[in-house]
Amino acid sequence: MLPGVTCTRLGADRCPGLLKPFVAQDGAIIRLRVPGGRVRVSTLADLLAIGADHGAPLLSVTSRTNLQVRGLPDPLPEDVMVRAEATGLLPSPSHERARNILAAPLAPDLQPLVAELDAALCADPFLADLPGRFLFAVTDATGAVLTEPVDAAYQALTPTSGVIRLAGLGMPCARDDAVAHLLDRARLFLTHREGPRVWNIRDLPADSPVFAGLEPMPVDPAPPLTPGPVGGDLVAGIPLAMLRATHLSALVAITDDVVITPWRSLVVPSGAEFAADLEEAGFTVTESDPWARLSACTGAPWCARTSSPTMDLALESAARLGPDGPRLHVVGCERACGAPTLDHVLVVDPHSVDDILSADGALAR
Ligand code: SF4
Repeated sequence: MLPGVTCTRLGADRCPGLLKPFVAQDGAIIRLRVPGGRVRVSTLADLLAIGADHGAPLLSVTSRTNLQVRGLPDPLPEDVMVRAEATGLLPSPSHERARNILAAPLAPDLQPLVAELDAALCADPFLADLPGRFLFAVTDATGAVLTEPVDAAYQALTPTSGVIRLAGLGMPCARDDAVAHLLDRARLFLTHREGPRVWNIRDLPADSPVFAGLEPMPVDPAPPLTPGPVGGDLVAGIPLAMLRATHLSALVAITDDVVITPWRSLVVPSGAEFAADLEEAGFTVTESDPWARLSACTGAPWCARTSSPTMDLALESAARLGPDGPRLHVVGCERACGAPTLDHVLVVDPHSVDDILSADGALAR
């Protein structure tokens, strides 16, 4: 293991896909990968409609910039399969759960490299065995998204050169060699990991061949994006990471494409001038909005591991939280699903709004 890392997983990798849904208390969960996070608004609308037509009207964005619908019938109706495939988000059925690729959300020039990496990944049958938890990243000189638990990343420092990064180690790499190099390391990971329950490069021993030729390379990534304008673009926060019909109605009038970030938000290209409209539609558009520092896991009644209605309580408490305070993540159990990578206060198994406000310190203020 790398220093300070202990691999204690006992369960199987249950990351869902479309062809391999996970069945939870409230029904089937499907997840569709969006390498690089860029997606058409019409595709979001199609997925929302598929869920709504089958009693599952919520579309979530995930921290790997993927899209998820939960509460679907089990087994999945043929209609769900056909319509979800028609979105184009399943180009390689064999690799559907392996296509987890983050990209710096404000660097559209990296998208061709993401597409190249995705295509090469899908072209190699061996890489279909990558765990659903294995995460690639492509970023720019700012190191955006390297705050996340990435396994193998290329950081572009100039248009033609950069570095490969793995678990705090790295080496220089030409841009033209980046895809081959990232995939070589992923193959080494599959070859040398000690069994299918080792999901990540950080879980390998320090002398693993995966790390051959790499040197310590500290990283100083840009912090996660917060809601608000960035130049002419807008980072629009999504309360509870749930996209609703009102969100999409507002987006469709503004843009064809958006970029999903790993931080429960979308980058809306040229969206800054439409911030008021998007706020009206339910997006968070300022850092001072309580939703910029409040999140929750799925909780009850959907998740069988808790009786705490985490999302309902978060919704209620948002109206009573002030703009300042710690980042709060409300969860139903110690698993702490969806916990942010930044410093935060975990509110575990709350059963009233006061439990959340107490954790925030709001009751004392
Ligand atoms: S943190 Fe616990 S209660 Fe919440 S979704 Fe995860 S497993 Fe369920």
